[in-house]
Amino acid sequence: MIAEVIVDVAAYPIDRPFDYVVPERFVQVIHKGVRVKVPFGPRKVLGYVTSLKEESELDEKKLKPIDELVDLKPVISEELLQLSRWLSTQTLSYEIDALQVMLPAAMRATYEKYVIIERPEEIEHEQVLQFFTGRKRVPLKEANSSSLLNLLKQYETQGIVTIDTKVGQQTAIKKEPVIHIADRHVLDQLLASIHPNAKKQIELLEWMKGYTGQTIPRKQLLEQSSISPAVLKAVLEKEGGREELTEVYREPDAPSLQDTAIPVELTTEQRVALEKIIASAEEHRPETFLLHGVTGSGKTEVYLRAIKHVLAQGKEAIVLVPEISLTPQMTSRFKERFGSQVAVLHSGLSSGEKYDEWRKISRGEVKVVVGARSAIFAPFENIGIIILDEEHEATYKQEDTPRYHARDVAIKRAEFYRCPVILGSATPSLESYARATKNVYTLLTLTHRAKEQQLPSVTVVDMREELKTGNRSMFSVELADAIRVRLQKREQIVLFLNKRGFSSFVLCRDCGTAVQCPNCDISLTYHRANERLKCHYCGHEERVPVACPECESEHIRFFGTGTQKVQEEVSKLFPEARVLRMDVDTTRQKGSHERLLKEFSEGKADILLGTQMIAKGLDFPNITLVGVLAADTTLHLADFRAAEKTFQLMTQVSGRAGRHELPGEVYIQTYTPEHYAIELSKEQRYEPFYQLEMMQRKRFGYPPFYFVTLIQFTHEDLLKVADYAAKGVQFLRENLSPETIIIGPTAAAIGRMNNRYRYQCLIKYKNEPKLISTLQQLIKYYRTDWIKSGLLMTVDVEPASIY
Ligand code: ADP
Ligand code: ZN
Ligand code: ZN
Repeated sequence: MIAEVIVDVAAYPIDRPFDYVVPERFVQVIHKGVRVKVPFGPRKVLGYVTSLKEESELDEKKLKPIDELVDLKPVISEELLQLSRWLSTQTLSYEIDALQVMLPAAMRATYEKYVIIERPEEIEHEQVLQFFTGRKRVPLKEANSSSLLNLLKQYETQGIVTIDTKVGQQTAIKKEPVIHIADRHVLDQLLASIHPNAKKQIELLEWMKGYTGQTIPRKQLLEQSSISPAVLKAVLEKEGGREELTEVYREPDAPSLQDTAIPVELTTEQRVALEKIIASAEEHRPETFLLHGVTGSGKTEVYLRAIKHVLAQGKEAIVLVPEISLTPQMTSRFKERFGSQVAVLHSGLSSGEKYDEWRKISRGEVKVVVGARSAIFAPFENIGIIILDEEHEATYKQEDTPRYHARDVAIKRAEFYRCPVILGSATPSLESYARATKNVYTLLTLTHRAKEQQLPSVTVVDMREELKTGNRSMFSVELADAIRVRLQKREQIVLFLNKRGFSSFVLCRDCGTAVQCPNCDISLTYHRANERLKCHYCGHEERVPVACPECESEHIRFFGTGTQKVQEEVSKLFPEARVLRMDVDTTRQKGSHERLLKEFSEGKADILLGTQMIAKGLDFPNITLVGVLAADTTLHLADFRAAEKTFQLMTQVSGRAGRHELPGEVYIQTYTPEHYAIELSKEQRYEPFYQLEMMQRKRFGYPPFYFVTLIQFTHEDLLKVADYAAKGVQFLRENLSPETIIIGPTAAAIGRMNNRYRYQCLIKYKNEPKLISTLQQLIKYYRTDWIKSGLLMTVDVEPASIY
């Protein structure tokens, strides 16, 4: 029997399965999808069996045998094997990367080298004998001098020692001792024969009689019987029980109660949406729904009901949420409803904890997975529904290879299991909404808040006016007044600083103009190094102006403020306010995110000041005021999604206020109040925003009218990077269809990073059947040849952003 194995070596030309002979002893037990240890050249590596066959096309005498089976049961199902093949093609990544992204990091391989003494009598050097000190196998890493290493190498060539690689797994299964308590008659016999002075032993045996034939963790037994380990040992020696190591899970948090949530009566809109989803599930249709509902419209309640239905059918559910909304508030809603059937996968878990959750899923011990992006690969084998909450979030796209989008993977898996996918959002991505309008997705709409609360009243404050009246503070008079009122009423305030894209564009403080590219209608990016403004869509470049091109004001400068600075100003203006700051700096420590939120929910602070991080998931009854300090910062990002991101963020942030009994108020400060993204986010008017934004996208040829693929080239040498980028573009021009638009090569927005120069090229296409094959060919040139010169090239199909 021959096994095709994908080996754990990511380098060209190895991106294909290799044939290995399956030794007789494994023939009965080997399966597709198990991990194996195999020789690869001089090394030993971990590999994945992707296929089993009768014979090889190669000379079988030359094939090497598999050394060892790592798993007896497949760790990758047939479905996931197929998916990995599809994923590596679609994202143009190595198959090994596509396989490994599906497994918890704990299961990746570790390689450790050992020196094995073969003929000890022939060793002459004292240093080498000391190294072994009577042992037969010693980790090579213990040899820490170069003279010793040299000696070992000599002995190796003479065959006196050999060097072997031990392939392991990063994290082990956790085991704990348990006691199997003997049967009643055994205990009775012992009690009859034991010396009456052994009082403690008698006490333990009497206690054990209450648990005959049962298995109890050793720790628990000692605690509950109040007996010392020595006594237990004595009783076990007399065979009153048997100690054994057993597999346990690391419990990331205490199990919670089942179904304590009081079921609410669904609103009519919720019911209609749910019925359509259930009908689709019943008919085994792989249908994708776009659940478009304003913030607080009860989308989560719809998810919960749909999942309940699917579980009743004996199937499983995957729920994806963006990492930053994996708050305890969010996950407890699932745990309340489904209890211990839920596994939560978030980045706060240790690698061991993630591994344990993965095993629970794989064994079918849980039925619902709630997690961030990679949870889409949860090893379920009977999926009944897949849900992506906040489907517009850029974090669903992985930035590193394999550069996959969780939405595409979800739809692919749903096709296999013939089950529905729900994409939920208050502000769907333009791509998804466009698909919904073309009936590729089924649109479900929730227009009202579930508890019939009013949407918060939103005021847009024109900061240009503030400046004219002499207010140079970052707080407008209106927002400052509103803050003062809340502080008096002891209601809570959220202040939001839009920090993404910080400092990267140049803005006039008098008229609000951001300096734009003449060809692209996109803000130019400020390059600090040479004080220039550049467009990385078309390559246009100019000097930073000294006066505003519109109004000639000299109040023109690059734009941005840090949260720390805001905090200082808040303390100056409102010395009595208690402020919590939540940004990357204050949440670096594990658990600090939760701690800050808890403090705020307990009313230990009046103001929560933060970045993107606080834009979603927060649901506290006492928040009645939300202030956005500068809405413009995302608006002028050098990104065709700038307006979309701004609209999404403003809508999301506003949604934090007045979710409960107290009415909410929102102030959005901006230098461009007339921009449609800001104007329309005031009343969460998604439709008109969509229409206007689609016109822009059409005009400039961006998604969803075109697909884009980004190719980036980096090199330490500026001339070389430009040269290879030009070669790459040349190749694309020659091989792709004439309708396909190729922009570049241009220097990237950040022209040099880590001392490497960066170039890029953008491919825009509507329908390009030759895309994947052409890119594969380009990558082949790169991997076999260009890479040797020190070039790095990445290909990102449908990138989340273009920097
Ligand atoms: P979304 O996910 O759309 O932002 P949620 O599902 O979080 O909305 O619902 C907002 C609030 O309304 C929550 O507190 C939720 O418990 C409540 N809710 C949801 N559906 C209903 C309903 N049918 N009746 C009453 N309250 C509801
Ligand atoms: Zn101006
Ligand atoms: Zn341009």
